[in-house]
Amino acid sequence: MKKLIYNHTEENLKRTFAWSSSWYHPYESAWSIFHKFMFANKVTINDLFKIFGSESIQNKRSNVWSKKDGDLFTLEGFDEKRLQDILGFNLKANIIEESATILKILIQKHHYKVFYIDTFRFCPECIKIGYHSTFHQFKLFNTCPLHNKPLSSICPSCGGGWKNEYNLIKNEIKHPFQCQCGFLFINEDMARMFAKTWSSNSHDIRDSSLVTRLFELNAHSEKTKRIHISDCIDLTNYENPFEYLYLTVNSKEENTKHIVYKSSKNINKIKCLDKKLLSKYIFTPRHKRPNKELYFTLKATYKSIARHFRKTILKDHKKCIKSYNRSFTHSESICPFVSAYAHWRGHIEDHEINWHVHTYRKRKIAENQVDFYTRSDSDYFFNIYIELMTGLYNEKDETIYGNEPSILHYVSPDNLTITKYTFNRLFAHLLHNYLLNWLIVAHNDMGKSVHYFYSRPFMKYKNLPFYTIVYPFKDNEAAEFHIWPNKDKTIENILKKLKCPNNS
Ligand SMILES: [Zn+2]
Ligand SMILES: [Zn+2]
Ligand SMILES: [Zn+2]
Repeated sequence: MKKLIYNHTEENLKRTFAWSSSWYHPYESAWSIFHKFMFANKVTINDLFKIFGSESIQNKRSNVWSKKDGDLFTLEGFDEKRLQDILGFNLKANIIEESATILKILIQKHHYKVFYIDTFRFCPECIKIGYHSTFHQFKLFNTCPLHNKPLSSICPSCGGGWKNEYNLIKNEIKHPFQCQCGFLFINEDMARMFAKTWSSNSHDIRDSSLVTRLFELNAHSEKTKRIHISDCIDLTNYENPFEYLYLTVNSKEENTKHIVYKSSKNINKIKCLDKKLLSKYIFTPRHKRPNKELYFTLKATYKSIARHFRKTILKDHKKCIKSYNRSFTHSESICPFVSAYAHWRGHIEDHEINWHVHTYRKRKIAENQVDFYTRSDSDYFFNIYIELMTGLYNEKDETIYGNEPSILHYVSPDNLTITKYTFNRLFAHLLHNYLLNWLIVAHNDMGKSVHYFYSRPFMKYKNLPFYTIVYPFKDNEAAEFHIWPNKDKTIENILKKLKCPNNS
């Protein structure tokens, strides 16, 4: 390996390295540039830090680098001037600006975590010529915009048991474009061809149809910025999550194939409380009433969905309901319909085994925080509530939390209507999905007598159909809720597979 002397003057630095700024392309990632640099100059990651590192990196005595030093989104460990002088452009500024340009299309608050995947992901075609793009880390695309091929996180040779984060340090691809196992991601002839290939790389990722359509959304930014995409959903499970965003923005009533719920157009103006519902609680202090109303509407949604399930799914299983509790002590085989419903009820109400078809477990409303009725989803609901408040009402953290940083303010009469609408829609969506999952469990356990006490044998938001929420920002805007049902995993399909031991 070539021996490098690092304390060159700036003029010398430019001449010392094999590099041309024409090897860099728009939206090329920092990972790509650093690996190209290592490849062309036969240098190591330690050398990279010494060549481009910030002052604190330069002052380190040892070659022990932290995860923060290797961060490829922020390039905190690197010095802008050195990058500019040696590469011919300010890589750090470009990376930060380009990732922000993508995020700016979507939401006002930038959530790196929601939209950028922290596992290293590459296109098997692009990487053959040593190219990796910021778009390969962008969660709404699961295919390469240039090749339409699925992105991968796995080494084709060793299968990659690597701890492969999108990071220079927490990544087992320590040699230029080469896995720990020796597998070379880049074509072998690139050793001769790299300079020519990199400077003539003709395809501009911005011209690809995916990226063009993404940037097209800027023309609809007024709506795009109001869309919430759930971070409960693992976006990597979908082939092209971007399509859902695009359809949410561009759905026309006449040709929409997914489910859309829309509120009335003046939902944001409706600020009074439901007097009838609240007459029962008229003695509670005024500021606590919206909180109670939210709680009771969510409970009402739950009860009405439960009633609907009883009238449909359990219609022919009255006898099974009666014998269900007995089956805990007797080894009778359980009716899967009732078992699914019972577990679903127990799960939502935090019950153990003693559930009753017509009564619901009573619990106190939380008086000092927003109470979303469901305990198991309250963290997720809290997060959406904060997003709603900051997006819709431009509330600052202090107004949302008051003096206690962990306790949310009460729902106010101003935001009650929209809060009720959003959370009742979302709750109904989650409730249907929980039932689906419990029906799948009951199907798998058919013929056995299995009870899950205090435990859920599936991941919390498993199978959750993709959904987006559109918040109304202005007085004449409606709230929208879009759902893309899972065609092969529906409640109806599972019900067809269940057999009741008592009704044959
Ligand atoms: Zn590609
Ligand atoms: Zn490997
Ligand atoms: Zn039955």
